[in-house]
Amino acid sequence: MSERSSIEWTDATWNPIRGCTKVSPGCKHCYAETFAERWRGVPGHPYEQGFDLRLVPEKLVEPLLWVKSRTIFVNSMSDLFQEEVPEEYVGRVIAVMELADWHIYQVLTKRGARMRELITRKHRRIENCRNIWMGVSVEKVDEGGEFSFSDATDPKQLVLFTKAPNFEALEKSICGRFAGKTASVEEIEGFVLADTPFRETHYKTQVLRRLEKRDPPRITALSSNPKRKPGTFADPKMFVSFEDTL
Ligand code: SF4
Repeated sequence: MSERSSIEWTDATWNPIRGCTKVSPGCKHCYAETFAERWRGVPGHPYEQGFDLRLVPEKLVEPLLWVKSRTIFVNSMSDLFQEEVPEEYVGRVIAVMELADWHIYQVLTKRGARMRELITRKHRRIENCRNIWMGVSVEKVDEGGEFSFSDATDPKQLVLFTKAPNFEALEKSICGRFAGKTASVEEIEGFVLADTPFRETHYKTQVLRRLEKRDPPRITALSSNPKRKPGTFADPKMFVSFEDTL
């Protein structure tokens, strides 16, 4: 929105996207919507179209022009990871953040699943960019009365809700999704990354292996490799058949 921001924890805002759609109860009192809708229909105003989503490619270059280092709130008037924002455009925003690396970028989203999926699939290198901070707005923590939804054993993960990841929750998610189905290890991993708060590190040893070793086994590994050891799921193309009731 502007080079200089009045938001306490940031120096500047940068909006290469304008407008958004509501995605959760936390959007009910969206300040960005209130602000944008005030200008709907005002010719020539940046928010002439109110809070309707639109890309603003001419804004992409802004951080490259700001010579002095700033802490920049990215898309204070939108959400970068909305489904309607093309992957290619998200890639352009990320490329600018990587290029103009003398700034710190704060990216907040309510679409954590898409952020995680896209970063994992296409932009994994930015996990090592210490100047790009990405976060998901948390509205409800600990609905189940425990503080263990986070797979927090990854040393790069800065927010720890507990030292012990709750693998029961991960097992429940995987079983809920795949009961009675057959899926490749690749598909299961895609689900874990995109639709659960867990990383890929543990689902094989802490969930699939345990389900296979249970008596009776709850899953069957459909492997063409005669040398495969039970409880190992190294081949992403290998299929796994889940029992109906898990
Ligand atoms: S995701 Fe953020 S910007 Fe979008 S409607 Fe919700 S609160 Fe507003």
